Amino acid sequence: MLSLADIFDARRRIAGLAIETPLIPSPHLSRVAGQEFLLKLELAQPTGAFKLRGAANAVASLPATAPGVVCASTGNHGRALAYAAQARGVPATICMSRLVPAVKRDAIAALGAEIRTLDTQDDAEIEAARIAAAEGVLEISAFDDPQVIAGQGTIGLELLSARPDLETLLIPLSGGGLAGGIALAAKTIKPSIRVIGLTMDRGPAMHLSMTAGHPVPVVELPSLADALGGSIGTTNRHSLDLCRRYLDDSILVTEAEIYHALQALYHEDRLVAEGSCVVGIAALLAGKLPALNGPVATILTGRNIDPKRHAAIMRGETIRLGDLVLEGVPYAA
Ligand SMILES: *Cc1c(COP(=O)(O)O)cnc(C)c1O
Repeated sequence: MLSLADIFDARRRIAGLAIETPLIPSPHLSRVAGQEFLLKLELAQPTGAFKLRGAANAVASLPATAPGVVCASTGNHGRALAYAAQARGVPATICMSRLVPAVKRDAIAALGAEIRTLDTQDDAEIEAARIAAAEGVLEISAFDDPQVIAGQGTIGLELLSARPDLETLLIPLSGGGLAGGIALAAKTIKPSIRVIGLTMDRGPAMHLSMTAGHPVPVVELPSLADALGGSIGTTNRHSLDLCRRYLDDSILVTEAEIYHALQALYHEDRLVAEGSCVVGIAALLAGKLPALNGPVATILTGRNIDPKRHAAIMRGETIRLGDLVLEGVPYAA
């Protein structure tokens, strides 16, 4: 069972690889929220996403004899694991679905990792397990691994030491390693804090699994929030339990709401982010959040968006996501 002490240990272990990120106010979003609204800039990590925290902690905890690591990833965990493994001189194999954007795949290849491309995220999970069994390398789950969860939880330590007065945390939710780790840290330190998970309405695996009380498989569909796709694993052991225990609420947003939130973040705060990290902002702008009673923070989890797609959204162009056509809308506050 993970505890706050594991998260403090993780903070010490990852210090050389992951940075402590800034927490900055958004004047525009604070006006909309009627409360101070803060952005935790995990997109400033050297791999462009918070996943470096968990991967660095997992690699630092490897037995000295580990011949290598393998994982399935929607892109950011694979890049983080490749980066941490390269720093320690350990070979890494990354399994990904075809839906992972080329920018993410190219960055992983540049770190010297071996890449396997599968049809879906769920196939990538199966392939990673097969390679671990066949080659004796260690599989590092992107979200259901105690060391990974403890690493992501270090964000909760930073948030509450910077701002003990935070009342609400808005956390992008996919496999739940991020939300589970942060919520464990934040609620142990400050039990009254409210923690809300957010994800897209196309294939919200953890949202459905929390309601059902067991892992619910979802069909992975193209989404602006590509890092939030895929299921939570049929044998989930850690992250579902943590999310059920510690999350107060789980809210879904549409692709159009994510599109608008990406525009708002750029036009108002001049920040470039990937779709997965603006789900909290999307819920605020769509009026989907419960009443706010004090300072709010959301995690800007990553910046690894395809630059052409980002530019098209900033220009208000129409976007195609598989069968879904997202009508272009120029930004207006
Ligand atoms: C992985 C990821 C998430 C979700 O984290 P989980 O631990 O899977 O819930 C959110 N945003 C980005 C950019 C990610 O890469």
